[in-house]
Amino acid sequence: MKKILIATKNKGKLNDIKEIFKDFDLEILSFNDFENFPEVEETGKTFEENANLKAKACFDEFGIPSIGDDSGLVVEQLNGEPGIFSARYAGGNANDFLNNEKLIKEIQKFPEPHRAKFVCVASYYDGEKFRIAYGEVKGRIITEPKGKNGFGYDPLFIPNGYDRTFGELSHEEKNKISHRSMAFRKLHKKLEALL
Ligand code: IMP
Repeated sequence: MKKILIATKNKGKLNDIKEIFKDFDLEILSFNDFENFPEVEETGKTFEENANLKAKACFDEFGIPSIGDDSGLVVEQLNGEPGIFSARYAGGNANDFLNNEKLIKEIQKFPEPHRAKFVCVASYYDGEKFRIAYGEVKGRIITEPKGKNGFGYDPLFIPNGYDRTFGELSHEEKNKISHRSMAFRKLHKKLEALL
């Protein structure tokens, strides 16, 4: 059976991707299947460059067609910040709590609505070519965190057409519209002819 490697340790992310790719006759591996895997530094200037870096580092290490992804929150009034720096917005010791605190502080300097989008780029690399897919979900940032589901900036983000944050939506509800599932569903389409 053909193999494909998803460049992640995150079991939640992996299960979501497995669900999207389930009709392919594929063995889907992740970093949890290896003792050592490349710690890829996100040195790219765009989501796409970072996703490509991850996919290529994995292919180069294991020789298995690989998928890397990169995602983040892009806030209009903050000129696109935190963007590719979403995971480390609050600095060296950043965590979700500190990142959210910083976002609230920065965004409060501006009038509502605080328009924003989550972005995800998924990149497949098989040693010859990259196949790249882009997903996004638009919405707005609120300054009072709401909901305990999800992770990262979820409690501060209300997607357009909803009155609840990503932190209040169920996993299934979020998955229907999320930037990540959109990117992976598009990538699935692009790989249909290949896999
Ligand atoms: P990465 O794609 O794993 O590098 O994640 C980048 C960062 O973007 C995460 O650490 C979160 O801070 C943020 N992020 C990406 N996707 C989401 C999401 O679905 N919800 C909340 N935060 C997210």
